[in-house]
Amino acid sequence: MKQSFGLHHVTMLSSDPVETLRFYCEVLRLHLVKRTVNFDAPDIHHLYFGDRDGRPGTLLTFFPFTDAARGHAGGGAAAALSLAIPAEAMEDWILHLAEQGIDTFGPSQRFGEPVLRFEDPFGLALDLVGREGVAPGPHPVLAGATLASQAPDATEALLVRLMGYEPAGEEPGLRRLAAPGGGQTLDLARGGALPPVEPGAGTVHHLAFRVPDDASLGAIRAELLAWGLDPTPVLDRRYFRSVYVREPGGILFEFATDPPGFAIDEPADRLGTGLQLPPELEPQRAAIERRLAPLTPAG
Ligand code: ZN
Repeated sequence: MKQSFGLHHVTMLSSDPVETLRFYCEVLRLHLVKRTVNFDAPDIHHLYFGDRDGRPGTLLTFFPFTDAARGHAGGGAAAALSLAIPAEAMEDWILHLAEQGIDTFGPSQRFGEPVLRFEDPFGLALDLVGREGVAPGPHPVLAGATLASQAPDATEALLVRLMGYEPAGEEPGLRRLAAPGGGQTLDLARGGALPPVEPGAGTVHHLAFRVPDDASLGAIRAELLAWGLDPTPVLDRRYFRSVYVREPGGILFEFATDPPGFAIDEPADRLGTGLQLPPELEPQRAAIERRLAPLTPAG
């Protein structure tokens, strides 16, 4: 099997599209690389942020439900995202976040790396991690997540034995697993039973892992079935094809193909500039555009 299984994207819930756009583009300096709708609820945006080219592995995506109550991290979800910068850029980022009026905590040390903790406007915990080997650039890159599994041993077994993650360290209450191919890390919280996640703004909806092609997606789906899990059929998400599965610790995982990518419906040098709809929703464009919350501040 040609596997890869590093992170493809992470999807969050938020409650204000304008504020989501402002924070991730202006404060974190990511690029809006796709503006589309939630295919299952097309009166809500689906906003994708990432590097300029929208490469798999750099993507943070949001469903900004305008009426979403604030959620609370807890068991059965990722509790924090890690975003990596070169370690020598940490001072600049501390200054930049302070200028933006954002409260930060740290930097503290985790697995030998400096970690600056702050929250997005919806309460999502973000860890800015100074990581060796990260190229200097205008924005941080998705580097991993902290997982609050309700069954950490079973989650670890799946990640290590099925997905090729490697144990990469242990600290009180935390075990680090390195993604195959290196670079990204998942930290499994092992601090005992947690109250379950309360889904809502500021919580992580799912983590998606990369697979290189459709054959690999079919292969991992068969392995998930053999593992005793209950994956969805292969779904066409337009920019990738996906299988979702609830892992044994309650966290929603997705496996997503690298192809076809974001240039399938707009030029690669103009990603994120227009509202893109899948062909089956295109006939409803006028009604959808009327119902969508605006992406620019009122007035
Ligand atoms: Zn997804």
